[in-house]
Amino acid sequence: MSEGTINIEGAVCAPALPHSERIMMGHGAGGRMGQQLIQKAFLPAFHNSALAAGDDAALLDPGLRQQLSISTDCHVVTPLFFPGGDIGRLAVCGTVNDVAMLGAKPLYLTAGFILEEGLEMSTLQRVVDSMQAAAQEADVQIVAGDTKVVQKGKADGLYITTSGIGVVRSNVQIGGAQAKPGDVVILSGSIGDHGIAVLGARGELGFESSVQSDAAPLNHLIDAILDTSNHIHVLRDPTRGGLATTLNEIAVQSGVGICLDERTIPVRPEVGAASEMLGFDPLYIANEGKLVAIVAREDAEIVLQVMRQTRYGEEAVIVGEVLAEPPGRVLLKTALGSTRVVDMLAGEMLPRIC
Ligand code: MG
Repeated sequence: MSEGTINIEGAVCAPALPHSERIMMGHGAGGRMGQQLIQKAFLPAFHNSALAAGDDAALLDPGLRQQLSISTDCHVVTPLFFPGGDIGRLAVCGTVNDVAMLGAKPLYLTAGFILEEGLEMSTLQRVVDSMQAAAQEADVQIVAGDTKVVQKGKADGLYITTSGIGVVRSNVQIGGAQAKPGDVVILSGSIGDHGIAVLGARGELGFESSVQSDAAPLNHLIDAILDTSNHIHVLRDPTRGGLATTLNEIAVQSGVGICLDERTIPVRPEVGAASEMLGFDPLYIANEGKLVAIVAREDAEIVLQVMRQTRYGEEAVIVGEVLAEPPGRVLLKTALGSTRVVDMLAGEMLPRIC
């Protein structure tokens, strides 16, 4: 476990990279290597208090009546279309969700497209239509954009970068550093669906899979629980690196321990079977429509009930609790009754997953 405190997308301080090192696929996997890259390449140059907070969006206070939440995401998923979603839906939902996880109402998105020469116009149109459908569902507008074209073979059809901005609710203080001993960890539904759905679309499972990506905008779910409780301390979507990495980030940011109960963590049977066959732990597989809410114990039951009444929170469950010890660590009580440490994703697991 690394000891540091500053991060982007929850990245923890980690030893600096050797000067000779080059970019590797693992630097984009959302785990420890990504943190090392951020530490080495970005934080020293860009360092400021909003960035140093280390959440998936930055909290800004430009002297208006409300604070702002701003975030940006790049999307390089392959293939472009997969069961339950596509690169366009991912691009909108990913940014909407990161903006909303600070307790903000997402309002406006921008989109940058890098298109490869030869891309069929009908493919682009499908992606754009999917983005608009997701934006409509999330009740946000895509208000500006940019397009660049690169030569054939220089990109994989298309890449999309989205940025988003929203206004933070008054009277909320939500962030990765707000988890407190005694809090309860709520998970909005099953884990691993997105990663396995994309692998299935690539034909890498070796069998026909019915698993659908969970890609979804979660801002309406967040609205519902923030209307219910003033004691929601952390919200985060366990995307690349999965639930294990996300909870490790929060444990470090908050200086707390987090203890999960394996028996309560929902994993669809098909996802469990595929993971076992491929040697993956679902705790590390990416999700694109799930969130973790860390909530004061007295409000946990009502938050859970409200979450279950929403479209994307029907399978919400309590999966663990926040402890004072050991700070910065995630523990898992296994189905067999033993307890083990769950570390963050170490290197590359599933490249080009989002
Ligand atoms: Mg996020």
